[in-house]
Amino acid sequence: MTSLEIVEESESRIVVKLKGVPLQYANALRRICLSGIPTFAIDDVVIIENSSVLADEGVAHRLAMLPLRTDLSRFVEPSACDCHSELGCSKCRVLLMLDSGSSDTTRTITSQDLSSEDEVVKPVNPNVPIVALAPGQKLKVEAYARLGRGNEHAKWNSSTIAVLTQGSNPEEHILTVETVGSLTAGEVVKNAVNELEKRLGEFQQTIAALS
Ligand SMILES: [Zn+2]
Repeated sequence: MTSLEIVEESESRIVVKLKGVPLQYANALRRICLSGIPTFAIDDVVIIENSSVLADEGVAHRLAMLPLRTDLSRFVEPSACDCHSELGCSKCRVLLMLDSGSSDTTRTITSQDLSSEDEVVKPVNPNVPIVALAPGQKLKVEAYARLGRGNEHAKWNSSTIAVLTQGSNPEEHILTVETVGSLTAGEVVKNAVNELEKRLGEFQQTIAALS
């Protein structure tokens, strides 16, 4: 009998006991939890104005590394979207704007200063520093976020930690997952199980087609 039992669960961390699941499947599930589920990350940045000391590429990199809250029910990956457009559409990309304006004091621009066109897809943590601005310096950017997977680039990783340990007998494996916050830990595991099922189904079809 195969079973999956939640031992411990919070928004950011989940511990699951897998019973009767072969080690290679448990390990595949672990890897999918880490980098095989789509999450949002900023993928394209248009710099409109940047008089900060940080180069444009530096600003773009900082923005790309911000974990963004992800809603998989309303969005699809660009490769699966029917718009077939490089620019994307409202189903496969979200625009976030940042406009520091001008100030005569020194200040730090943080992830909180990004305003998203979507009410869900926004930085998980509002207190991540992006750049410090001296009096008179300005930063204005348009940032486009898209769904992607960590196996393409680490900015799309869904978890910081996904480890597998031996349970109380050889039939049991314990999977511990800590999310980056784009999805809850429970959502990560649930989506990973679906993804693994889908991949195994596709694999079976391939094998069946060969024989
Ligand atoms: Zn689209």
